[in-house]
Amino acid sequence: MPTSDATFTWHHLRRRIHLFCFVAFLALPFLNVVRFDIPRQRFYFFGFELWISEFGIIFLTLMFLMFLIVASSVFYGRVFCGYLCPQMIFSEASMAVESWLQRRIGKKFPKQRDRLSRAAFFLVVAAASVFLAFVFISYFVEPRDLFRRLTSLDLKTAGGISGAVVTLVTFLDFSLVRQRFCTTVCPYGYLQGLLGDGNTLLVHYRDPGHDCIECKKCVRVCPMGIDIRKSPFQIECIHCAECIDACDEILARLKKPGLIHYAWGEQGQTRGWGRLDTKRIVVLLVLLFYAAGLFTALAMRRAVLVRISPDRANALYRVADGRVYNHFRYNIANRSSKPAAVVFSLQQLPGASLAMAPNPVPVKPGASIDGDFEISAPAARRADLVSHFSILTTTVPDQVTDTTPMTFLAPTSSSTLEGK
Ligand code: SF4
Ligand code: SF4
Repeated sequence: MPTSDATFTWHHLRRRIHLFCFVAFLALPFLNVVRFDIPRQRFYFFGFELWISEFGIIFLTLMFLMFLIVASSVFYGRVFCGYLCPQMIFSEASMAVESWLQRRIGKKFPKQRDRLSRAAFFLVVAAASVFLAFVFISYFVEPRDLFRRLTSLDLKTAGGISGAVVTLVTFLDFSLVRQRFCTTVCPYGYLQGLLGDGNTLLVHYRDPGHDCIECKKCVRVCPMGIDIRKSPFQIECIHCAECIDACDEILARLKKPGLIHYAWGEQGQTRGWGRLDTKRIVVLLVLLFYAAGLFTALAMRRAVLVRISPDRANALYRVADGRVYNHFRYNIANRSSKPAAVVFSLQQLPGASLAMAPNPVPVKPGASIDGDFEISAPAARRADLVSHFSILTTTVPDQVTDTTPMTFLAPTSSSTLEGK
C-alpha cells in the first residue's frame, strides 16, 4: 500500500475521491450513464437506452454491478463505505459544514454561537437536501420533467410526493442521523461479514514494541467513534484510514512509524496486493463472465427492432385479378434517441410485389409502431401450396439489415383459383 511517501495521507486521497464521486453522482443521471426511468420504463446504461422488454441485458447489467461490489468486498473489505459511498460522503460533508459554521459564527457572535450556528446549519442542510433529492430522483424520473414538477410545487403526483419525501428524509439523515445510518439501517456492513475472509483488506493495529503513547488521537478522528486498537473486525469500521493518518502523524514526531496500517487479513501482511486464492479466482471469473456477456449483448443489440408475422387469422390468402395475396403485420420499435426509417423488400419470391405505404416506414425516437402490408404473386405461376422466401428490412440511417424467413401460401391449381 502506498504509504512510503512522507507527504501522502489517506485523508487527502479520500477527499479527492469524494470530490470525484460527488461530480459523478451529479453527472450520471443527466448524461444517462446510469438511470432507471420509471415513468417511461427505460433503463439507461452508458448511453444505451434499454427498454424494459430487454430483460436479458438489464439482468446482465445488474448481475455485473452486483458482482463488482462482491469482488470489491472480497478483496478490499469496506473501502466502498470509506471512499465511495454517497451516504458517508454527505455525512462527512455535513459534519465539516457544521463545525465550519460554529467556528465562523463563534468568532462574530460568541454568546449566541450555538443557537445561530444551529439555525444556519439547518438552513444550509435544507437547501442542500432539496438539491440532493432532486439529483437522486433524477435517477428515476427524467430531470426536465422533475424540474417542472419542482418549480410548480407539485405535491399531487407520485413524482412530486416522492420528491417531498426524499427531501425530508435527506434533511433528517444529514442533520441528525449521519454515520448512525451505517451501523443501524445499511445492510452492507453486515454483508461484508459474510463476504470477507482471512485475506481481505483490513485496518490493522499492531504494537509489538509497545510504542503506543495512549494519545487516543486515532479514536478522536474516527468518524465512526470506535477504537481500532480493540479489534480490526469491528462492524462499525469503514476502512477510511483516518486513524492511520492520525497515528502516523503523532508517532512521526517521535521519529517512529505509525502503529496502524492497511493489511491483508489477520496476518497483518502490509505488502503486495493480497492473495489470489481459489475464492478470489472464482469471483473474478464470474465477474468476467458477466462483463463478457454484457459487452456481447450490448454489441449485438439492435437500436431499431423489427418484428414481422403473417396474419392468417381470417384467411390464409386471397385471390384477386389473377394474383394471390398474403397479409402480414409488423411492429417496429425505435429504441434509440434518433429518428429512423425501415425499408422493406422481398427476396426469393419471383414475380412478387410488396403493397405497403409508406415504405420506408418512419419511426420517431423511442416510439413503437404497428402496421400491416400485403405481398402478392402471380397466381398462375404458383405450383406450390407453400413457398419459402425472406423479407429484408434495412434500417436508415444505420444501414443495419435483417432477414426474416417467411412463407407465402397459395392454392395449388388454376381450377382452385377460379373457384375462389
Ligand atoms: S494514535 Fe497511535 S499512539 Fe495514539 S493512541 Fe492511537 S495507536 Fe496509540
Ligand atoms: S477505525 Fe480507523 S479506519 Fe475504521 S472507521 Fe475509524 S478511523 Fe476509519
